[in-house]
Amino acid sequence: MTHSITIIGAGASGTLLAVQLARQARQPLTVYLVEQHAVMGRGVAYGTTTPAHRLNVPANKMGAYPDQPGHFHDWLLQNGHDFAPDAFVPRQLYAIYLQAQLQAAVASGSIEIELVHDEAIDVEIGEQAAVATQDSSLRGAGLPAHEAIPESVLTTLASGRVLTSDAAVLAFGNFLPPQPGFLTPQAAAAPKYFNNPWLPDLASRIGVQDRVLVIGMGLTGVDTLLSLQGQQHAGPLYAISTHGWWPAAHQLGYSYPDFSAELTGLTSLPAMLRIIRRHLQAAAEQGSNWRAVIDALRPSTQTLWQQLPPAEKRRFMRHLRRLWDVSRHRMPQECAAALDAMHASGQLRSLQGRITAIEFDGAAFNVTYRSHSGGHTLQADAVINCMGSETRLARLPSRLMQNLLARQTIQADDLAQGIHAAPDGAIAPRLYTLGTALKGVLWESTAMPEIRTQAQQLAARLLAA
Ligand SMILES: Cc1cc2nc3c(=O)[nH]c(=O)nc-3n(C[C@H](O)[C@H](O)[C@H](O)COP(=O)(O)OP(=O)(O)OC[C@H]3O[C@@H](n4cnc5c(N)ncnc54)[C@H](O)[C@@H]3O)c2cc1C
Repeated sequence: MTHSITIIGAGASGTLLAVQLARQARQPLTVYLVEQHAVMGRGVAYGTTTPAHRLNVPANKMGAYPDQPGHFHDWLLQNGHDFAPDAFVPRQLYAIYLQAQLQAAVASGSIEIELVHDEAIDVEIGEQAAVATQDSSLRGAGLPAHEAIPESVLTTLASGRVLTSDAAVLAFGNFLPPQPGFLTPQAAAAPKYFNNPWLPDLASRIGVQDRVLVIGMGLTGVDTLLSLQGQQHAGPLYAISTHGWWPAAHQLGYSYPDFSAELTGLTSLPAMLRIIRRHLQAAAEQGSNWRAVIDALRPSTQTLWQQLPPAEKRRFMRHLRRLWDVSRHRMPQECAAALDAMHASGQLRSLQGRITAIEFDGAAFNVTYRSHSGGHTLQADAVINCMGSETRLARLPSRLMQNLLARQTIQADDLAQGIHAAPDGAIAPRLYTLGTALKGVLWESTAMPEIRTQAQQLAARLLAA
């Protein structure tokens, strides 16, 4: 029986797992919730204090519990935040909401939750008993055969403390973007090169007249521009990505029927695409919207992804990933309107191109890039890396990750998007993960609607062990 569980990371994933354990446990249980940052229940996504940084999911779909998607919106109203159900609410409010769920779980006393402010630097599966594993999900995922079931998991913390538990869950979420190879060492070390786009005071470290280059045009690029706008930035702004595409803006109020049954069992990406294109066409003819077609796929995306052979997944990554990202991870209308205004005033120029070099001459960055129309240069006083979280485990500057890799406790998935694990998050007997680390396995595994379900299901599984 499980008496103790260590959860590494108290962002949304780790927090909701602790909350679910408190809700579901019927026996005494100790949970160690380990977080390296000062604040629990926030993580990267909800750690922002900039009101212009909004959720990209409507409030009435952001509930922390799978059976209560409207729970967050209800909480907003109960706590004096008068937002419409379909509003895109400032993300900082979501952090307060998550923390309230955690506080309630701790206060309930149904289990003991110890909040451990420390960095986990290693996880070792302890002394092993000679019992053959019955874990079918591990075998089904083709994970290495574990001949024995370990008796305990030892989590070493930076302070030197060692937590002993019956199981451990890796909930470490998002990491900083990779340091691009096109930066010279001088450019990488320059005071106004920012490899961390989530620094709370980033915009205030940039002069209001600075020429700023934002590398990457995803949702973090949008946030960064909104932060600069909030600081009354007056200098020129450049944003660049290899495709030059911003996320599409949300348009609510459309629906489209679930057509996933037509895709079930297909193992060819072109065959899937033909069907999806037919539905996009039908949606346009019926006065619906392509967004509703993409959203209709959401509940079955994980299943459809898993049925694709590895070669087809790689093909998707090469040819369709960007198109999927800008279609699926959309920005609120308010954010799109702000970007439109920056474009219209001429302050913001959005560029398509591949950066080949960024040098720093002691005063400014000299940026060289190639677009469809040839080679170009531009100068910037500040450069912000918004290229997205590093997913290649071997490159992560995390002691925990390096120790786990060195001992071969974890391996990267085939697409280098996260950890090789079973779809339910099992990595090895007594070691599990959820959320972003499962992106390569499930594809759709980074947003709250998926994370809250994983937290509920993983809690049930852990308690049943
Ligand atoms: C900028 C941004 C905005 C987003 N907006 C939305 C949104 O609006 N709606 C939505 O549904 N999803 C959004 N997402 C997706 C987001 O990934 C999930 O919603 C969710 O927040 C992920 O939580 P997490 O706990 O898995 O990861 P994280 O938020 O990254 O949290 C992981 C935590 O683990 C801790 N940690 C890591 N390693 C260790 C260690 N060794 N020891 C101790 N602690 C450790 C970290 O400090 C961190 O607090 C957004 C993501 C980002 C990056």
